[in-house]
Amino acid sequence: MNCIFCKIIAGEIPSFKVYEDEHALAFLDINPVALGHTLVVSKKHFTNLENIPEEDLCNLMVAVKKVGLGLKEGLDVEGYNLQENNDPVAGQIIPHIHFHIVPRAEGDNLHLWPQGRYEEGEAEETARRIKQAII
Ligand code: 5GP
Ligand code: ZN
Repeated sequence: MNCIFCKIIAGEIPSFKVYEDEHALAFLDINPVALGHTLVVSKKHFTNLENIPEEDLCNLMVAVKKVGLGLKEGLDVEGYNLQENNDPVAGQIIPHIHFHIVPRAEGDNLHLWPQGRYEEGEAEETARRIKQAII
């Protein structure tokens, strides 16, 4: 399979690994948003949250939690953002499920998304549409 992350997992592409267990591998992002920006990937190839079975997702999240704590302790980081870009429209470039852990510091000048407001009735209708689609 021509997947960069599968190749990293197989050791065919080098990476700076920070954690590995039976289910997950964590390594430094090649183009970090912040020092220590780490990717935690499932060892099994799944594209995104819709494809990964619940048990595999739970195993992956256990690794995410461990690595997040490791970043805090090891890099003396106060907090981090956790992000999963789910689908190309959301910025997912590598179609192999992974979580970004981005360490944060006071005054690091990283800005999260600008927020807006709902028009009258829009929140109610939006919530209704989501609610009726959730299985
Ligand atoms: P996505 O946009 O799919 O959520 O994120 C993919 C991430 O993988 C990007 O932040 C990108 O910098 C990183 N990346 C892409 N290719 C490589 C690589 O070969 N090695 C490493 N370590 N990171 C990579
Ligand atoms: Zn893959």
